[in-house]
Amino acid sequence: MAKYIFITGGVVSSLGKGLTSASVGRLLINRGLTIRMIKIDPYLNVDPGTMSPFQHGEVYVTDDGAETDLDLGHYERFTGQPTSKKSNFTAGRIYFDVLHKERHGDYLGATVQMIPHITDEIKARIRAVEEKGVDVILVEVGGTVGDIEGLTFLEAIRQIGLEEGRENVMYLHLTYVPFIKAAGEVKTKPSQQSVAKLREIGITPDVLVCRSEVPLDDDVRRKLSLFCNVALNAVIVEQDVKHSIYELPLVLCEQGLDELVMVHFRLARPPAKMDAWCKMIEALIHPEGTVKIAVVGKYSELQDAYKSIYESICHGGIAFKHKVEIVKVAAEDLEEGKGFDVLGSAGGILVPGGFGERGIEGKIAAVKFARENKIPYFGICLGLQMAVIEFARHVCGLAGAHTTEVNKQSPHPVVCLMEEQEKVVDLGGSMRLGAWPCALKPGTRAAAAYGVAQISERHRHRFEVNNAYRAQLEEKGLVLSGLSPDNNLVEIIELADHPWFVGCQFHPEFKSQPLVPQPLFRDFIGAAIRKQYPLLGAHPAAHKAKHK
Ligand code: GLN
Repeated sequence: MAKYIFITGGVVSSLGKGLTSASVGRLLINRGLTIRMIKIDPYLNVDPGTMSPFQHGEVYVTDDGAETDLDLGHYERFTGQPTSKKSNFTAGRIYFDVLHKERHGDYLGATVQMIPHITDEIKARIRAVEEKGVDVILVEVGGTVGDIEGLTFLEAIRQIGLEEGRENVMYLHLTYVPFIKAAGEVKTKPSQQSVAKLREIGITPDVLVCRSEVPLDDDVRRKLSLFCNVALNAVIVEQDVKHSIYELPLVLCEQGLDELVMVHFRLARPPAKMDAWCKMIEALIHPEGTVKIAVVGKYSELQDAYKSIYESICHGGIAFKHKVEIVKVAAEDLEEGKGFDVLGSAGGILVPGGFGERGIEGKIAAVKFARENKIPYFGICLGLQMAVIEFARHVCGLAGAHTTEVNKQSPHPVVCLMEEQEKVVDLGGSMRLGAWPCALKPGTRAAAAYGVAQISERHRHRFEVNNAYRAQLEEKGLVLSGLSPDNNLVEIIELADHPWFVGCQFHPEFKSQPLVPQPLFRDFIGAAIRKQYPLLGAHPAAHKAKHK
């Protein structure tokens, strides 16, 4: 029977509950346990697929095609384990299913209520991840304790504690301990109140993880222990990390959080094996150089909108022991002629995925700049489509070439709607989603990066390269280095006479991990380092890592 760890958050949002959960997951794996992780979100959208990145950050896509919360990205990056459709659900999904059952007559005339019908549905979905051999299931509850919409979720996890036995369930509460400048001290009251709120619902936390910008001394920890009714050794301090979020598992391990879990669940395992993780952190803390990457996006001001992209770029840097400085360039600025100096100073230019018209011409201008100035270019999804349009317009001489997403009347629709997308009306869950295979052309950069003949990567798009233009594009030198195995869809394009120019229709950023950098990101960063240090030829560090 699996044990459960429920992770709740208090005081304010954006405390890094997802990162803390993911870090605990990594520690338990390093202690030899088999885990599963899920995120439950109390909002009413049926899934995050239709939510704007402005509101909700990036939509993370799983192998089985679920459009999920970006915390699942942290889970996969920290634990190396794939998540799935089962790993994330919302209150909207729960209500949707319960109401559907009610209409179907499944409740046999009963009055359908929050308790037990909604809570039963929540519990069933949590328990659905339980399978043979799984030791611990970690469940992160979205939102903050005290939110009205989160109440049924907290009630459900309280019930699981009762049903499974408290010794099989651990409640971990993440809270915020602010430093008040005027008073010159940290304050524990917000944490006390958030724990009081939890206890009102019937949940007593076993572990209190305290986010803080400053160190917390033992007096503060004792006070938190006393007022929050948590054992002193279970009051863990999570001070802001210095260099990288990947330090977090080490911070928690040093304070014995994994040991607390073992003791609570009466599990005996050797200490956590942290060697590989420490080595990776070492590359982040003591890099041999810095490389600059320009990311040309529409949501450039938002850290969360391109979360996985930024992380994957950082992983590419780890492969070469290089720190990556990411500069965000707003595509719309380029349309006004601004920002090209930034592009020119970068070792590499990346155009990420996106939707709609805004900033499109700026992105095309960024591609042109990268192609003409021989700056390594990496285009992802929309970034591939922009590269194809740029090539069609300026190399093949197809004036007005465009994607039908932006211009349905284009004389040269080099990117167009996939046939099966023509009839789609509902926006939710209706794109080409999830993992699809792709065959690589031997002798190309893509084949060199992956080192295998066939790969599988995750998708989230409606449009694709128009097959009617394939011959024309190829004739002028665009290499179609990755195709769907039936040859029907263009998956990767590249240029042979350029230091490194690759576009992919899929989202490689969803599969990159700090311990296993994604091959295309790795090679892109390698090319960017070579670009940035031309006098050295291949930068020695890049050279060393490549031939390891
Ligand atoms: N808007 C484009 C499409 O739907 C690209 C999508 C993306 O970049 N994820 O095909």
